[in-house]
Amino acid sequence: MTETVGCALDVEALRRKYAEERARRLRADGIAQYVEVAGEFARFDKDPWVDGEFTRAPRTDEVDVAIVGAGFGGLLTGARLRQLGVDRVRLIDRAADVGGTWYWNRYPGIACDVESYVYMPLLEELGYVPTEKYAKGAEIFAHCKRIAEHFDLYRDACLQTDVHEIRWDAATSRWIIRTNHGDQMRAKFVSMANGYQAKPKLPGIPGIATFRGTTFHTSRWDYDYTGQRLENLAGKRVGIIGTGATAVQCVPHLAAAAQQLYVFQRTPSSVDVRANEPTDQRWADALQPGWQRERIQNFQILTAGGQAPEDLVADAWTSITRKLPVMRHDSDGSSDPEQRTREIELADFSKMEEIRARVDQLVTDRGTAEALKPWYGYFCKRPCFHDEYLQTFNRDNVTLVDTEGRGVERITESGVVVDGVAYPLDCLIFATGFEVGTDYCRRTGFDLIGRDGVTLTDYWRHGVRTFQGLCAHRFPNCFIESIAQAGLTVNFPYLLDVQASHVAWVIAWALEHGATEVEASSDAEAAWVDTVLARSTATVGRAKTCTPGYYNREGKADVKTRQGSFFFGAPTEYADILQAWRTQGNLEGFTVRGAGVDR
Ligand code: NDP
Repeated sequence: MTETVGCALDVEALRRKYAEERARRLRADGIAQYVEVAGEFARFDKDPWVDGEFTRAPRTDEVDVAIVGAGFGGLLTGARLRQLGVDRVRLIDRAADVGGTWYWNRYPGIACDVESYVYMPLLEELGYVPTEKYAKGAEIFAHCKRIAEHFDLYRDACLQTDVHEIRWDAATSRWIIRTNHGDQMRAKFVSMANGYQAKPKLPGIPGIATFRGTTFHTSRWDYDYTGQRLENLAGKRVGIIGTGATAVQCVPHLAAAAQQLYVFQRTPSSVDVRANEPTDQRWADALQPGWQRERIQNFQILTAGGQAPEDLVADAWTSITRKLPVMRHDSDGSSDPEQRTREIELADFSKMEEIRARVDQLVTDRGTAEALKPWYGYFCKRPCFHDEYLQTFNRDNVTLVDTEGRGVERITESGVVVDGVAYPLDCLIFATGFEVGTDYCRRTGFDLIGRDGVTLTDYWRHGVRTFQGLCAHRFPNCFIESIAQAGLTVNFPYLLDVQASHVAWVIAWALEHGATEVEASSDAEAAWVDTVLARSTATVGRAKTCTPGYYNREGKADVKTRQGSFFFGAPTEYADILQAWRTQGNLEGFTVRGAGVDR
């Protein structure tokens, strides 16, 4: 039966449309559709920000804490350790500087899409206020360097260092870190802050290796070719594959510079209002001590479905949960579950209608506007926000090549083929994102080898196993900072800081108490995994109705995917659990070994 809500929503028709759009995107090969950036594709991973080879003498020294990854996760862990008086800390990163995501990604238009006053960590500690509500990439990268300088984290850092293996040495209770420089460094503790989306991925499009023009991934932008201001693209035919959050930010810049731009789309993003603005100096001057913590907390509560008396950030992110009851935690459980499911669905349809109406308002060509409309639930894919992206398709030199969910058909020596039509190109850019859900070792480029020679890849073969979303049994003195089995957030530095503060506390406790080993017990780990699984059941139905993407392992949201998902709960519940555990102070769930503290 067709049901209409208000005068606009035909619920049955929308359900049908979403299901059709999902079906045409589902592929049997799932995440195997992507090719690894390795072998003949290794050039897509080359660091464009350094010249020549870097060599140094091998190191065999020992530190208290080795942190793998010098992005926000590593920097925050280093900063929190320093604040607790832990001195012998070493950041290790394959990049030539700190920054992680913000080191690698320097594509034109790059900016944070969460408000910078809550996204950029440690602002008060460093006495810095970003210049815009949504800071550009260069400002965020500079902030990363500022953190490293402020907390003296460049000292002892090993940059341009590829870790090859990290192995537990039971005889000495140390981790041994082997690298491309012949290092065999030792560390009492390791913190894995490798990043959640760090390894670029490429689509397995037939002929991808044959293209003879210039080609690169957005996270390794080739400014030698494009020119710093993209001035060399005048007179060039440029193609970009992918229309996710990265493409949304860089497409307007490519369009302004290229002679002709072809945007190859498989699934359109939802693109909502951005409304960036410069920081009001009077507002910045009036900020009171504690302002950032309060603002971050307020943003976290509102974007993870809670209620707060005021909305400090007041942007498209914080308005979403008011409109979408899907994530809300204000239900007392008394409402009829069916009724609640219906409300959720209707609110989502209504929000997505708003997004689709925005396309109609901003895009003049009707066919192009139709192709740019997303037909799926709001949180099926990463929401995007931009005030120029959609209008870019009104330009004469921009063509949207919509593949109707099938993806690019073929790549040839001279360009891209879709539906039998060849698009000759001088330059082909892959805005195709990063590996999610592949094996741990494939993503990090090395394996972590714990007690009795077990590798983390094998230990997690059938799904992620952690205690507190951080520690794995058989991997003593090791912390794995990632979103798996940790709290839900759209503001990743918030989660990283929650984890960094916790990791630093446990390490400082161990060093202070003379504990040589802290290891998650198998019981505590099993209980955490069970909790994660139990709490993720509500996502099953939704994942099955969502269009494929990295959020649902390309439509294969099985139990393994659920096991690697968030620790769902109230907005700050994950952080609160860790805080309460620290207050309790007896390291419950860990086996602790060492002089006088064995238990
Ligand atoms: P995504 O994984 O989000 O997007 C990849 C794009 O490539 C999708 O549009 C995908 O289509 C498309 N694609 C993949 N294979 C093919 C194919 N065979 N043919 C045509 N198109 C194809 O990567 P992004 O780099 O855009 O974003 C990754 C994440 O990085 C974001 O989700 C976000 O978390 C983060 N990010 C954050 C920003 C910030 O400001 N904080 C800015 C930019 C990114 P399909 O959707 O059909 O799979």
